[in-house]
Amino acid sequence: MLNRRMAFINLSTASYEIEPVPEEMRRSFLGGRGINMHLLSRFYSTHVDPFSPGNPLLFGAGMLTGTLSFGSRVNISARSPESDHLGDSSMGGDFGAEMVYSGFSHLLFQGRSDAPVYVFLKDNRIEFRDARHLWGLDTLETQKQIRSELGDSRVQVACIGQAGEKRVRFASVRTGRKSAAGRTGMGAVMGSKNLKAVAVRGTQDLQVADPQGLLEYYGDAQKKLVETKWAKALGRQGTPLLFKFANAMGFLSYCNHQYTSVGEKGRALEAEALEAYSTGMLSCFGCPVHCRHRFSIEEGPYAGLSGEGPEYASIGSLGPKIGNLDLQTVIHSTELCNLYGLDTISTGSYIAWAMELFQRGIIDRKITGIPLEWGDSKIVPEIVRRIAHRQGIGDVLAEGYRAADAFGGSSLDYLPAVKRFPLEMTDERLPKSFALGMATSTRGACHMRSRPSIDVLGLPEEVLKKIYGGPVSNQLTSYEGKARMVWWHELHNAVTDSLGFCRFLTVFSSPHAPQYEDFSRWIRLNTGLSLTPEGLRIAGERIYTLERVMLAGDGLSREDDTLPRRYFDEPVGEGPAMGSVIDAKEFQNMLDEYYRLHGWSRQGIPTKKMLVKLGIG
Ligand code: SF4
Repeated sequence: MLNRRMAFINLSTASYEIEPVPEEMRRSFLGGRGINMHLLSRFYSTHVDPFSPGNPLLFGAGMLTGTLSFGSRVNISARSPESDHLGDSSMGGDFGAEMVYSGFSHLLFQGRSDAPVYVFLKDNRIEFRDARHLWGLDTLETQKQIRSELGDSRVQVACIGQAGEKRVRFASVRTGRKSAAGRTGMGAVMGSKNLKAVAVRGTQDLQVADPQGLLEYYGDAQKKLVETKWAKALGRQGTPLLFKFANAMGFLSYCNHQYTSVGEKGRALEAEALEAYSTGMLSCFGCPVHCRHRFSIEEGPYAGLSGEGPEYASIGSLGPKIGNLDLQTVIHSTELCNLYGLDTISTGSYIAWAMELFQRGIIDRKITGIPLEWGDSKIVPEIVRRIAHRQGIGDVLAEGYRAADAFGGSSLDYLPAVKRFPLEMTDERLPKSFALGMATSTRGACHMRSRPSIDVLGLPEEVLKKIYGGPVSNQLTSYEGKARMVWWHELHNAVTDSLGFCRFLTVFSSPHAPQYEDFSRWIRLNTGLSLTPEGLRIAGERIYTLERVMLAGDGLSREDDTLPRRYFDEPVGEGPAMGSVIDAKEFQNMLDEYYRLHGWSRQGIPTKKMLVKLGIG
């Protein structure tokens, strides 16, 4: 089936095997996240320490990555050292496409190299190269040096910085200036394998079933996309445009979810404020939207700094979540995270946790070394640095939720988390669909598994019924139909991640984005595979259910599909979302409906009947 291959790479023995990607695997799991989950499930076990050589690390390019599509992303997956269950993160930029051109759509790394290495894939060949001289370098310098020593400026590199080397449990994998597989600590898994980088370069023709048909179809799809209001706004301001909405509506985490809006002070962090530093917009491979800011700071304490970003998630996490409303500090701290290879969301979340503990006197300077005051913008870059180098309080925070061992048992009460994975830059007490999605996400508190951002648009209910196939309330604060909405997006996102599509160009944000019918045609033109829209929806259910099977193996079930205590017990005290809280009974009703739609038991465990139906062995 066309020229798509997978490589099984053993880092302990510096050996590999190459196989074609079986057609049946593609039909069932598509590519990207789907095939990663299929391969990971063969090895997944509670007995495998995330840092042990037995924890496989997977790179999976989307089924459409490298051809004319919207995003060309790659998923990186393993057992997560941060949450100690399912780890998976999607990365944009140019790496995924180049990986496919190098001759490989899927990589499975096993074992551990005795000394630091990087793996170079070029035109169907795999080389293991010494990386001892790269150990200790940041992500940008690593990429530069690899390109320089390979004598090819078009090599794309996915690598770790100092944080991954030191096994900071929320270390990310980086490519380019800021593209990242940010969440769930995949950089730490690379570090544990002594794998500093994966470099890719390819000049292979990528076989496409119907090149002319694909060209015409993509042209039409692209025209339709760039005319949507959402794509126009995204191309002008990038994801920071979302900050203003979240702040105005009151679903922003401020001071570790003690408040949910920063009010007028938020202007300092809005997209308009960021525009003052923007020097232009960039795009991931093949994307017509160009949503990524380049910035340059000309004046102030960070004068001379330039780079890419920050995205909305980083602004929220290194801004209001830690009480910081200084945009230059947010930009600088984000850039530090990019260089060290740290997930900005988790970094901000653990700092916010420590700040609240400090505020409440649960921890003091004996453990923190420095006062952790809300909004002290001077200390933020310093804490980021200490985390990356595992120094002092940074070493404690580098352990993620396990820092509770040092902070004391009651400290976990103030770490808003789901399935041992910290909540993000938003607060979900107001939008009930967002809340349910956080609780059920298979990688722990995460908006990328299901967030139905279009819920904020208040679309007519007949439009929602058409999309979701059943009644859904158009009120953001209503519980009605929100289980259906979350279930639908979980399946849909599993499919788009497996195709390599960018989330921003799906129904996540706009009802006019491509849907199953479009994907079905796209796949046929690209691969020649005939997959019906319903077949794709079932593939989404198969992938999501398989993830759930792995969680069930870890002992996670209904009791773990929940939200932080604060969401149920503390109504929002002020601001636009004042009084918002999650009603425990309504939440349980949503869960019942959600499990019913998935065909799982009332405990949230996939049933044998469902596994048979989905063909999961
Ligand atoms: S919308 Fe933005 S993040 Fe998504 S593929 Fe395009 S440029 Fe990349």
